[in-house]
Amino acid sequence: MAANEMREKLIEKAAEAYQKAHAPYSNYSVGAAVLADDGEIYDGINIENAVYPLTICAERVAIFKAVSAGKKKFKAIAVVTKNGGTPCGSCRQVMAEFGLDTVVYIADTSGKLIQTTTVSELLPNAFGEGDLNES
Ligand SMILES: [Zn+2]
Repeated sequence: MAANEMREKLIEKAAEAYQKAHAPYSNYSVGAAVLADDGEIYDGINIENAVYPLTICAERVAIFKAVSAGKKKFKAIAVVTKNGGTPCGSCRQVMAEFGLDTVVYIADTSGKLIQTTTVSELLPNAFGEGDLNES
């Protein structure tokens, strides 16, 4: 599959997931879809809770689904919101755990690509495994 076809498919999956978001408090739905290096796609939605801090973002749901399925290398992740919002700091850190080179597509609900970036661009000087091992 060509790169632009894969990008379109990933954004489409994120937009489909967006419809299932559970965001009754913020009314800010988010859909995400992460492409593992074996070609599998895992989607995610933001899931809010009446106890607000328990809310989890779509990007982390998608990544955690993939990781729990044994995937730890990702080519790209697409994030869909109504206005092209970018991933929060927590999600950037979780993405960094699995690779700074992962491509991040930011799109809106119409499927329009707003921005193409990478995890390393979103989180420069990321804290990582190497920091823990330095003596
Ligand atoms: Zn987040």
